[in-house]
Amino acid sequence: MRALIVEKNEDTGKTSAQVQEIDEARLPDGEVTVAVEYSTLNYKDGLCIGPGGGLVRTYPHVPGIDFAGTVETSDDPRYAPGDKVVLTGWRVGEVHWGGYAEKARVKADWLVPLPEGLSTRQAMAVGTAGFTAMLAVMALEDHGLTPEKGEVLVTGAAGGVGSVATAILGNLGYRVAGVTGRPEQEAYLKSLGAERIVAREEINETVKRPLEAETWAGCVDAVGGAMLARVLGQMAYGGSVAAVGLAGGAALPATVIPFLLRGVNLLGIDSVMQPYDNRVRAWGRIARDLPMEKLEAMIHPAGLADLPELGAAILKGGVRGRVVVDVT
Ligand code: NDP
Repeated sequence: MRALIVEKNEDTGKTSAQVQEIDEARLPDGEVTVAVEYSTLNYKDGLCIGPGGGLVRTYPHVPGIDFAGTVETSDDPRYAPGDKVVLTGWRVGEVHWGGYAEKARVKADWLVPLPEGLSTRQAMAVGTAGFTAMLAVMALEDHGLTPEKGEVLVTGAAGGVGSVATAILGNLGYRVAGVTGRPEQEAYLKSLGAERIVAREEINETVKRPLEAETWAGCVDAVGGAMLARVLGQMAYGGSVAAVGLAGGAALPATVIPFLLRGVNLLGIDSVMQPYDNRVRAWGRIARDLPMEKLEAMIHPAGLADLPELGAAILKGGVRGRVVVDVT
């Protein structure tokens, strides 16, 4: 089978990634073997293809935190050969071999049946980034967000999470404002469903006043850092921010004033250890609420051999939308 293998030179500590032909017998233990059709590229994959970012424990390693394909063999009664499945998270592609290979072997508990109406390619156009965007939208709705409440901000809008969040929210009738550092992506973001664009510089500064004008009814935040701190002070009374990512930094230089005086909610979103039932709910919502023609517009097709270059690009914020990797 063909796989993207990351090896580490023990002398220099440096890693390198290459497509290799390897024996299927090297696959890790697991109940279900899947013939992988498509995988994708997330920020975390960029780390795992490259220096590891502390996520990968042992080498040689096969990255790929997401995959979709067809069950080949199964020792678990929930899955039979021929079933279409999707996997995101559970530290697959980090501590367990992942989706950048023609085959993957995993625990049955980690899989989700592919929802009706979604192909394996579309599922990987969604991937962890899109799945997380849906979890964020669901969390905002669970905390009372409706289109009538006002404008919703999406930060890191031209990235993977941001693109899918913009398309879902736009389709659900929300007025979406997208923050981007790439003004050339304005037409793309508007085509996905953003009503207006906010320049990154406008909102990236350190908090000077703990409260600003009440501007956003909700926010899907892929950036974190100073931008998230700023956004908290701009939330409307009772509004919620779904904190998804840290593309702009892990520190949160904020004050607690927006929580105390405006009842603002900061909702943490984790896609990796998300319980099964909520995964099924989120994938069902994706099949229903994400317009497939908009998803198609986000796709950047790639093969296994393209991944080292694309992995480096995503770490620099240089990938637009969603990379779909044809593994076959
Ligand atoms: P992408 O690289 O595709 O998107 C991130 C976007 O953030 C970029 O496209 C860019 O958008 C913006 N950005 C990048 N650097 C900066 C910066 N220094 N300051 C401000 N904005 C910046 O990554 P993903 O969409 O796949 O992931 C986004 C974040 O979400 C990552 O931090 C990732 O680790 C996290 N994540 C978390 C998950 C969870 O379970 N909580 C699951 C999936 C992802 P633009 O060019 O439009 O400005």
